[in-house]
Amino acid sequence: MEQLLALQACDQEIRRLRKEEADIPLRKQQIEARLNAHQEGLAQAERALLEARTRIKQLEAETEAGHQQIQKFRDQQLQIKTNDGYKALEKEIATTQQKIRGLEDQTLTTMEAMEEAQGVVQTRREALAKEQERVAQEIQALEARRGAIAEDLQRAEAERITKAADIAPDWLARYERIFAKQHDAAIALVERGTCGGCHMKLSPAQILDARKPDTLTLCVHCSRLLYLAP
Ligand SMILES: [Zn+2]
Repeated sequence: MEQLLALQACDQEIRRLRKEEADIPLRKQQIEARLNAHQEGLAQAERALLEARTRIKQLEAETEAGHQQIQKFRDQQLQIKTNDGYKALEKEIATTQQKIRGLEDQTLTTMEAMEEAQGVVQTRREALAKEQERVAQEIQALEARRGAIAEDLQRAEAERITKAADIAPDWLARYERIFAKQHDAAIALVERGTCGGCHMKLSPAQILDARKPDTLTLCVHCSRLLYLAP
C-alpha cells in the first residue's frame, strides 16, 4: 500500500504537469490578446487623428472657396449698374463672411481636437511598446516553463516505471482504474472514521479491513482505495 501511495504521488505530479503543459497554448493566447487590445486602441486613436486632419483640410478648402466667392462678388459689384443690385451683392458678401467666420471657429476647435488626438496616439504608442516588451518576456518565460515541464515529465515518467515495477500487477491494475476515474486521488486516507476522499462515515468493519496490509479495501461510497497507516 505504501508503494501504491508513492506511485500515486508520482501519478499526481504527472497529471499536474500534463495539465500545465496543456494549458500553455491558452495562456499564450491570453497574453497575446492583451497586445491585440493595445493595438486596437492605438489604431482607434490614429483613425481619430486622421479624421481630424482630413476635417481641417476640408474646412480650409471651404474657407478658401468662401474668400474666392467674396472676390467674385466684389468683381461683380464693379460692373453692376443699379443700386439694388449692388446692395444685393453686399448682402451676399456679408453672408459669406459670416460663413467664413463659422468655418474658422470650426477649424480652431478641430485643431484642438487634433492636438489632443496626437497626444493620445503618442501615449498609446508608448503603452503598446511597453506592452510588447512585457508580452515578449512573458512568452519567453512560458516557453522556458514548457521546456522545464517536458524535462520534469520525462523524469517523473521514468520514476513511475520504476515504482510500478515493484507493485503486484492486479493491485496496480485496480489502482490505475480508480485513479483514471478520480480527479484527485485513487487512494483515500481514513481520517477520524471517515473516507478522506468523499468524507463519508465508514463502518468499523471497513476501517478494520483498511488496516490490513494484505487486502485492498474500497470505500463503499466513492470506490476509492482506503488506506490507514498500520
Ligand atoms: Zn469514499
